[in-house]
Amino acid sequence: MKGCTNPMMISMDEIEFRTSLLDWFHCARRPMPWRETSDPYQIWVSEVMLQQTQVATVIDYFNRFIRAFPDIETLARARDQDVLKLWEGLGYYSRARNLHNAARELASQGLNTVPDTPGEFMKLPGVGPYTCAAVQSIAYNHALAVVDGNVKRVLARLFEMEIPVNDSCVHQEFARNAERLLDRGEPAMFNQAMMELGALVCRPTSPLCDECPVRQWCNALAHGTVAEFPRRKEKKVIPTRHHAAAAVLENGQLLVIQRRPHGFLGGMWELPGGSVKKNESPDKACIRTVKAQTGLSVETVSHLARVTHTYSHFRLELDVFAAQAPANGVVDLNGPEAHQWIRWSQIDTLPFHKAIHKCFPSLKPLM
Ligand code: SF4
Repeated sequence: MKGCTNPMMISMDEIEFRTSLLDWFHCARRPMPWRETSDPYQIWVSEVMLQQTQVATVIDYFNRFIRAFPDIETLARARDQDVLKLWEGLGYYSRARNLHNAARELASQGLNTVPDTPGEFMKLPGVGPYTCAAVQSIAYNHALAVVDGNVKRVLARLFEMEIPVNDSCVHQEFARNAERLLDRGEPAMFNQAMMELGALVCRPTSPLCDECPVRQWCNALAHGTVAEFPRRKEKKVIPTRHHAAAAVLENGQLLVIQRRPHGFLGGMWELPGGSVKKNESPDKACIRTVKAQTGLSVETVSHLARVTHTYSHFRLELDVFAAQAPANGVVDLNGPEAHQWIRWSQIDTLPFHKAIHKCFPSLKPLM
């Protein structure tokens, strides 16, 4: 079995490797709004959005977010709902909540700028090693190597690394190799170049080795093993969860509830409901869970839709029912943070998570 690093690869060639990579990057880099700025705050926002999300998706979100919250102070003053609304659809909402809380923490110290000390920056909510390395190197040129999915793939092929890219326990192995390669004179450009190489050339499938600026140092290419790297641990099969929810309508208004501010989908809005028990029918589960959450004894009128949505750790199957609440029923929340009765014209004023968006076509004709 090959070792995870190959000492032959980087020795006298380090400088050439870096020069070749940086020369390529200067010509090949894609224009992106966060590459047109040196504002550390904007770079921070972009790096948070880019975690788990494709560049093409992030661009519009980034532009809208920066227009609404152009600096730390403005973000710190914003309402939670307004921040989540601009994140709606990007998923992983804890990223938005952490960014918001971090801005508040800086503003409370009278700061309107991103700390330019990695240690200080790491103290902020949501700032882990990846965000720290990316922001501190790109914004302030600190010599920290960035290791994201694209970089791992490049490293795995360059060094024929036997460890799986999707095993967080061995992240340090990748970090060590990334540190060895890092151009300490130009960490901002070098890190971006490595990420761009993974995105454009050393692609997950059909890498463009003939066009690769570092092909002469690539062990996988030399040994004809490119297709075998990166190694992967078999993914666990994610479970399916069955939920039921109610579209409770009163005078043309729909009852919506807000999830608690922390945890999974924290702060987002949805329809009342909950999980379907084993051997329970979805409509019974709908009635039971709406009662438990809102105190309302609803009756289901019709089945409106079944929507599915896959999150990182489970697949949701959601049965949605049109439901009637008793006349003069009073909402008495147990669990949710808040509730509102809204008209269809207000649907865009609140942040809903993706599964609920998928219900909208069935809800609209009712309202
Ligand atoms: Fe990736 Fe091919 Fe370049 Fe090796 S030569 S780093 S496999 S694109």
